[in-house]
Amino acid sequence: MILRIAVPSRLYQTFDYLPPLNCDPAILQPGMRVQVPFGRQQMVGFLVELAADTAIDPANLRPALAILDAEALLPPDVLALIQWAQRYYHHPPGEVFTTALPVLLRQGEPATVPTPTPLWRITAAGLVALADDSLRRAPVQWRMLDYLARCPEGAEAETLRPVVSHSAATLRTLRDKGWAEQIAALEGATPVPTSHSPPVLNVAQAEAVATISAALGRFQVFLLEGVTGSGKTEVYLQVIEAALAQGRQALVLTPEIGLTPQLLARFRERLPGPLAVSHSGLSDEERLKAWLMAREGRARVVVGTRSAVFAPLQAPGVLIIDEEHDPSFKQQEGFRYHARDLAIVRGRQLGIPVVLGSATPALESCYNAQRERYQLLSLPDRVGGGTESPIHILDVRRQPMREGLSQPLLERIRAHLDRDEQVLLFLNRRGFSPVLLCHECGWLSLCRHCDARMTLHLRRQRLICHHCGDHRSVDTACPQCGCVDLRGFGQGTERLETALRQEFPEVGLTRMDRDSTRRRGSLEALLADIHAGGRRLLVGTQMLAKGHHFPDVTLVGIVDADQGLYGIDFRSSERMAQLILQVAGRAGRAEKPGTVIIQTHHPDHPLLRTLVSRGYPAFAEEALAERQAALLPPFAHQALLRADAVDAERATAFLLKARALAEPLADGLELLGPAPAPMERRAGRYRAHLLMQAAQRQDLHRFLQRWTALLWAERQDRQVRWSLDVDPLELY
Ligand code: ADP
Ligand code: ZN
Ligand code: ZN
Repeated sequence: MILRIAVPSRLYQTFDYLPPLNCDPAILQPGMRVQVPFGRQQMVGFLVELAADTAIDPANLRPALAILDAEALLPPDVLALIQWAQRYYHHPPGEVFTTALPVLLRQGEPATVPTPTPLWRITAAGLVALADDSLRRAPVQWRMLDYLARCPEGAEAETLRPVVSHSAATLRTLRDKGWAEQIAALEGATPVPTSHSPPVLNVAQAEAVATISAALGRFQVFLLEGVTGSGKTEVYLQVIEAALAQGRQALVLTPEIGLTPQLLARFRERLPGPLAVSHSGLSDEERLKAWLMAREGRARVVVGTRSAVFAPLQAPGVLIIDEEHDPSFKQQEGFRYHARDLAIVRGRQLGIPVVLGSATPALESCYNAQRERYQLLSLPDRVGGGTESPIHILDVRRQPMREGLSQPLLERIRAHLDRDEQVLLFLNRRGFSPVLLCHECGWLSLCRHCDARMTLHLRRQRLICHHCGDHRSVDTACPQCGCVDLRGFGQGTERLETALRQEFPEVGLTRMDRDSTRRRGSLEALLADIHAGGRRLLVGTQMLAKGHHFPDVTLVGIVDADQGLYGIDFRSSERMAQLILQVAGRAGRAEKPGTVIIQTHHPDHPLLRTLVSRGYPAFAEEALAERQAALLPPFAHQALLRADAVDAERATAFLLKARALAEPLADGLELLGPAPAPMERRAGRYRAHLLMQAAQRQDLHRFLQRWTALLWAERQDRQVRWSLDVDPLELY
């Protein structure tokens, strides 16, 4: 008997071994972990398959060292999903397994809940305190409580340590106030009693719930489209309840930034039993625990980010992907899978329904709904009445601008602030300004390692490259001509903040971007402040656009829409439309509707006009027509071979060879390139790519199957790093 094993290596193959000595072959099952010798090392591999024969000379076969699991660690459906993904994305099998599993399991730790230590858990009173403003003046306690709210099963003291600086004292205070409690580890699994009864659904919601629930037990994909506040989450909850009532489990995927304490509190309040939650803020132990609880069925509902698509379930019932258009579902490095697409594959393999929810579905999903491959379910109205915020285009051509803000926008801001309302300004560029410029000779602060400019960060007094992270102190004189008249050119959030503080010195302001929220818990503290009403001007990047709701915001200003309208990528306008509506959706409530103002130099841009006057579905239709005319996805299928090297010629030589190998196989395919990447040099390496495009998906995959085999069989140039991206979301 031969063991076919995926070993965590960059090689594009599985490896054959003999069973360990003294091992009863009858116990072997695919999905078990196996300790194997690999070169001079030992590694933890995954048993993919038991085979009768091997292409290896039996004399060279080595026995595995040990079987690490008493039974298959991976249920058959997860194993099948991993194998499907490996073949579809043509990625080295070992890395696919590595991506799909919790760290501790791939390190060979036993698949049992690690030694139980007492856990801290938020109490019902604590949830209340978090929601009202009891903690307005105690941001540290708030931060800790808020963190606990994200760990509904409780968290170990050890993992709470980095949340605030004196975690032990903070936890004691919270316990004394009755807002947090310590529980034995096992108790974490007992259901929290709930008394919350569901609201009466409106007609569209009721129809959505009934339609999806009727499909439990068979494969079907639903596209649940509805603006923020239209009641999508309520639909998820009731569909999950229906699945639970049949004794099945539910898996919910959300973007990292969408996995907020509010969302979890709502799930926990409504759904019986423990939740298994998985996100990047958890410790390895907590992730393993959530994984095991899902597999054993102790958690009936699993909520997690991208990689949770591989979560094992004991009785899968329904898969839900919230904000399905969000680009963070696609992993952009290593194993480049798309969690939404894999969820659909998994739903088909399991014969269960998949629900994709969004206010602004990806054009791919809109197209699938048009073709009736997905069933469209629309929630056309905001719950509780309330209208969508009207969106106005503000033509800023020839307008005097003050630090990026036009006079009409400034006046509107003032009017809303005068009425004691909140204003949100969105600018998707952090830092003070995107480049430092010499007024005398035109010198620009360029990165030494990238074809990019270094962003000026005045607060930190650094020039920082947002592409490679390199940074240095801000020049005081021009390195080229010695002149001291150096100026920040263009707008970033830091500069906008400075300008607004000057303009409205009496108004509290919060800036929210990756710089202002670097410290753990600082995002939560900012949010608490905003909700308490202490800050009425909010400035931020797309971090402001997702997950949070700011009911007192009545004016949203999009400071610069132009970047997105004419971006290098054919998806730029789709992204821009999604961002605009997402930012717009943050604002207003029934009694206080919001207004959205978009500053642009292109007020007649057709897609922007359509979006503003006729809404997202009309926008999607027009954008799809453009894609069709240009034969771009979803009307074509793409794969991108990227290569980079310190030496530009080596990267290109690799791609030329790859192209030569491709040409004889490329039936029904267009090969474009090699071409330099839009940012040719990044972090000191030259980057280029070769784009493959086909009208038929099958043609592309038949080709990739044969071509990748040839690519891997070639002698590899160790100076060149390359990777294949199937269905790339970004072409750089
Ligand atoms: P979405 O997920 O589309 O943003 P939610 O499901 O979060 O919408 O609903 C918005 C708000 O309306 C929530 O506070 C929710 O509890 C409430 N809600 C949802 N459906 C109903 C309903 N049928 N009746 C009353 N309130 C509802
Ligand atoms: Zn100069
Ligand atoms: Zn750089």
